[in-house]
Amino acid sequence: AELYGIEEWGSGYFGINHAGNVEVRAPGEGAADVSVDLTHIIDGLQQRGLEMPVLLRIENLVDSRISILNESFAEAIATTGYQGVYRGAFPIKVNQQSHIVEEIARFGERYNHGLEAGSKAELMIAMSTLKNLESLIICNGYKDAEFIDLGLQARKLGFKCIFVLETVAEVKLVIERSRLLGVDPILGVRLKLSTKVEGHWAEDSGDRSLFGLTTNHLIEVMDQLRSADLLHCLELLHFHLGSQIPNIRSIRAGVLEACRYYIAMVGEGAPLSYIDLGGGLAIDYDGTSSVSGHSRNYSVQEYCVDVVEALAQQLNAHNLPHPTIVTESGRATVAHTSVLLFNVLDVGHFEPGPVPSELPEESHEQVSNLWFTLKAINVNKLQESYNDVIYYRDQVRDCFFSGEVSLRERAFAENLCFAGLQRIVALLPEMKRIPPELEQLPEQLADIYYGNFSVFQSLPDSWAINQVFPVMPIHRLDEKPNRQATIADLTCDCDGKLDSFAGPEGETRTLSLHSVKEGEEYYLGVFLVGAYQETLGDLHNLFGDTNVASVRINTDGSVDFVHELHGDSIADVLSYVEYDPQQMFRQFRVAAEQAVRDGRINVSERQSMLSAYSESLRGYTYFER
Ligand code: PLP
Repeated sequence: AELYGIEEWGSGYFGINHAGNVEVRAPGEGAADVSVDLTHIIDGLQQRGLEMPVLLRIENLVDSRISILNESFAEAIATTGYQGVYRGAFPIKVNQQSHIVEEIARFGERYNHGLEAGSKAELMIAMSTLKNLESLIICNGYKDAEFIDLGLQARKLGFKCIFVLETVAEVKLVIERSRLLGVDPILGVRLKLSTKVEGHWAEDSGDRSLFGLTTNHLIEVMDQLRSADLLHCLELLHFHLGSQIPNIRSIRAGVLEACRYYIAMVGEGAPLSYIDLGGGLAIDYDGTSSVSGHSRNYSVQEYCVDVVEALAQQLNAHNLPHPTIVTESGRATVAHTSVLLFNVLDVGHFEPGPVPSELPEESHEQVSNLWFTLKAINVNKLQESYNDVIYYRDQVRDCFFSGEVSLRERAFAENLCFAGLQRIVALLPEMKRIPPELEQLPEQLADIYYGNFSVFQSLPDSWAINQVFPVMPIHRLDEKPNRQATIADLTCDCDGKLDSFAGPEGETRTLSLHSVKEGEEYYLGVFLVGAYQETLGDLHNLFGDTNVASVRINTDGSVDFVHELHGDSIADVLSYVEYDPQQMFRQFRVAAEQAVRDGRINVSERQSMLSAYSESLRGYTYFER
């Protein structure tokens, strides 16, 4: 457990059981958790025909995250004596899958948890999914007349649908459409705060952020609304400092700056009653609870207390009523719910073969230099030995180019080189300070575990922005891992790999894994992948959507397989890129018929080729055993 930091990033939802397997812990009745062994879930998936890779969603974890967020705000509000309430709005873009959004709406109903929509399609999802009229629908993003009309119709139906104005240009359209449809909108403004945050999404904050109104624009918006006699509709102030904000101090600073605007806007006659902090509530991907970039230095509870306290302090000083606090937490709501499970298909080793005890007679001079360098390696001169090993290996290669060294001698020398480098790596831990050049050696010699998945399809942020996700074996955790490895996916693309891993000692370039046993599957899990990964994924090498299964863990520890979705077939992904699978089949049949005519194959071979082709079109895009 310590090796992989699961007790830290697992946030109580994941741990290791007595059988040495990863278990999922879901809140049960009362204070007790119920736990389920992940390998049992895999058995259940296989019995249902869902082969690896599988994206496993554990519904209870979404429920738990919604509870924690709402209960933490409720507690912070109660302890500080804050007069307003909290209303969450889940941003649909973070995970648009219907089962997730429906579960959030269903479970969130008790907390009046709403949805945030950034497009017409998302607004339509919100309008058809939310049942509770107390829940908010927050509309961000650029809005055309149709978007606005949809939102106004939602108002007529009784939804608390709020348009957040992102540009001055939108105001005219909103005024026009509201008059036409005869309904007053509820309006908000998105502000560009000057508070800057750290982390990958730092550019969402500060003067150069892409979205939000500047102070001048804000005044223009308020003036236009006043002249249209609609200033009374301006109820919400919105800001979003960026996703995964690592430092709680930036969040507090943002709230304080927003309060200044809030107070000033109320002074201008806007009857504000909501303050919307957008997203940003971060999660701990690497288990370090630090501002490392993959983590954060605060808990959900601390976030809530800081926000509530900062608001109360500022508004009390101006005797203003406390607004409803809105957050659009996406990542913190859904990241935990999904785990990508895949099997290892093969392992590439960088290990020397046996080295003879004597140097073969008549070895080339450079080969014998390499031999003696290898024999002389010791911990006091590792850098020097490394330099010599590489130098003599290159000398042997030069001699091979000029024909002085044979193919077999070159192979012998390269084996010596591997043996030398492995020896150096084995001695590295004994060094007081490892020189930078040698630091990378373990990674260069690490195994490559080939996994049955696509980074581009299932973990796009790992490729696009170097997001670190926790990765670990989900079984054999009572055995000490004996290999160091990086992980390659099926795409054969040099970016299709995982080579940055979170651990208690910080980020590492290799992961400790077990040797794969002949005839036995070795399963790995990538955790905390429920936010942003599913819809950002792409079809690189035409690997399509993976199989998906949603499970619910019952309070007695039994598991319901509530949804199963088979991943894309080859025909599906081909049609996404405009091929017509039926036409392809017809063309293949013509080629096969021609081969029969030319005598290259017989009719029965033609038949079996055609049925194999047709079966492949229906098959899974990933590796099938
Ligand atoms: N709200 C807005 C306007 C956003 O742009 C985002 C994402 O960047 C979010 C909410 C969700 O942020 P997070 O996933 O950090 O909670």
